[in-house]
Parts: sequence; structure tokens; C-alpha cells
Amino acid sequence: MSVGYNTKKLVWKRDKGCCFYCGCKLTWETKTVDHVIPRSKGGTSRAWNIVISCFTCNQNKGDSDPTKEQLDTILRWKVAHEMKNSLEKAIAIAKLNGSPEEVEELFKLREELRGIILATRPMAVPLPPTELILNRFTSLAQ
Ligand SMILES: [Zn+2]
Repeated sequence: MSVGYNTKKLVWKRDKGCCFYCGCKLTWETKTVDHVIPRSKGGTSRAWNIVISCFTCNQNKGDSDPTKEQLDTILRWKVAHEMKNSLEKAIAIAKLNGSPEEVEELFKLREELRGIILATRPMAVPLPPTELILNRFTSLAQ
């Protein structure tokens, strides 16, 4: 599965055009994209598993596993992406059944999650307490 254009744009913005591995500055033309968990090991082409990489680091990494730090980083993005997807559903429900304050609260949480999804160092950004709030709306949906 190849990496979609929208995914490339998102990770380019998130990684600020720098190689995830060595930090060197790249251009859109010179960058490559890399699967942190290799495709050969079940890695997906979703944005949380894709990073901007220079050609050399991409070649050197090959099919090797990410380091613990690299894995922690992408799993943080994964959690934020998944929470945001759940939040989109909760927002749809809240628009029908919730108060304006609740909708506003969910929008605020979505912004916080966007902050993590687009953070070069997501571990530095605290996760918002999304689960508690989501439970309220997912129970409404049943
Ligand atoms: Zn590099």
C-alpha cells in the first residue's frame, strides 16, 4: 500500500520538513517517506506510522524495527488519531443531543488532539481527558 498525498502533506507539516531520524532539513522534492514499523512487519500507511526521511536514513533503516523512543513517538500519534476519530463521532452525536457547551467542549478537545497529531515531539504534549467525555456520548448512541 503506497502512502497517500494527504498523508504525505500531513506528515510533512508535522515533521516540519525534517528527517525523523537525523533531523536534516529536506525539500518536498528531496524527501522520502518511511514506514517506522516496516510494511514487511505489518506497518500500515496511516499518518502515525509514516515519517519524513532523508534518502540515506531511509536506506539505512530498511526493514529494521524502530527504537523504543521512535515507537513511543508514533504510538502517541496513533492514540491521538484514534481518539480524534472517536471524537468526530461524539461531535456528530453531541450536535444532535448535546448542549452547545458540550459541543464546544468537544471542539476544544479536538483542537488539543490536533496539537498532538501535528506535534514533532508528541510526548511533550499531555493527552486531553477525552475518554471520560467520549463515554458520555457513546452511551447516548446505543
Ligand atoms: Zn536522515
